[in-house]
Amino acid sequence: MFAKLAGQGLLGLKYPEQYGGEGGDYLHEAVLIEELARIGSGGTAAGIGAHVNIATPPIWKFGSDDQKRRYLAPAIRGEKIGALGITEPGAGSDVAALRTRAERIEGGWVLNGEKTYITNGERAHFIVTAAKTTEQGGHHGISFLIVDRGEGVSSSKLDKLGWDASDTATISFEDVFVAEENLLGGLHEGFVLIMANFQWERLAMALGAVAAMQLAWERTASFARERHAFGRPLCDHQAIRHKLVDLATSAHTCRCVTYDALRRFVAGEDPLREVTMAKLLTQRASFELMDACLQIHGGAGYMREYWVERAARDARLGPIGGGSDEIMREILGRVLGL
Ligand SMILES: Cc1cc2nc3c(=O)[nH]c(=O)nc-3n(C[C@H](O)[C@H](O)[C@H](O)COP(=O)(O)OP(=O)(O)OC[C@H]3O[C@@H](n4cnc5c(N)ncnc54)[C@H](O)[C@@H]3O)c2cc1C
Repeated sequence: MFAKLAGQGLLGLKYPEQYGGEGGDYLHEAVLIEELARIGSGGTAAGIGAHVNIATPPIWKFGSDDQKRRYLAPAIRGEKIGALGITEPGAGSDVAALRTRAERIEGGWVLNGEKTYITNGERAHFIVTAAKTTEQGGHHGISFLIVDRGEGVSSSKLDKLGWDASDTATISFEDVFVAEENLLGGLHEGFVLIMANFQWERLAMALGAVAAMQLAWERTASFARERHAFGRPLCDHQAIRHKLVDLATSAHTCRCVTYDALRRFVAGEDPLREVTMAKLLTQRASFELMDACLQIHGGAGYMREYWVERAARDARLGPIGGGSDEIMREILGRVLGL
């Protein structure tokens, strides 16, 4: 899939032509995200999305020309797959608590530690990795290193509820040598990189959710028109018809809130409030819509044969990944002066 998408220019929509990109912008990427969500496999969208929306943007924004040639260009060509390694067994929401340590030696760093729940963690050729570069770590002691899969890097795939088509893995670093030229951005300035892409990552998740909601609604409405109970189509029963109306209203509301945040983001504003609200609203609403669609399918909805059980499992990740609902509420609490 990576090679096929690259062949159509879809892995480099927003990236400059000099590195093989299409020279487009975030709006082009937004269309890709919605269309990927419409293929109906959350895992596929997640694997491609991790590569395009979270692993390569820091290289594009903070990388040297040499780093862009060595990592961004082959990533756009689909030759190298990227992953973003921030989360650790002991540090998820509390990113500053991460323990992976990069110790300075001549010519670079020696990296030791463990990352977990990393999308593309098994197949990635390089991992954009957050590590402590001071003894204390924390907000002023974390840096990013681009780590090639090689000696000292091992990974193991995790089993999960949904997103089966994406590989999610634990990655261990054991005395991994990382050359000086693979420091991404400023030394001890890793938090700047983390914060810089959060808005886009969360917007991307919101866009994926609204497209998945739309698809699920269309499929469920058509099921409710065809399936009969008590001598008439399901949607001729008022309770089901009203449910479908509520779901359409929810999907539309989510789209409006997301597009408002996207419009502001593309216009160059700093729409922290709107993006955070869009992420918070859409992820829970998407899971609730999938669950309601599953209910309308009755027993069929519980069967592997039907798309909707997968959609419900895939949607469950939204309120957890990319900053959980609780963390979105914490951010909004601060933004709203509470
Ligand atoms: C399928 C999948 C793919 C992922 N892909 C990646 C990836 O590619 N790269 C990467 O770096 N990470 C990835 N993650 C990790 C993801 O970002 C974290 O799981 C998420 O940030 C939550 O962290 P945690 O799992 O450690 O939960 P914790 O931080 O331990 O939180 C546990 C619970 O406590 C709540 N909580 C935590 N702090 C507070 C608080 N202050 N107030 C109230 N409630 C709180 C949380 O909301 C959550 O409900 C992925 C996760 C999954 C499941």
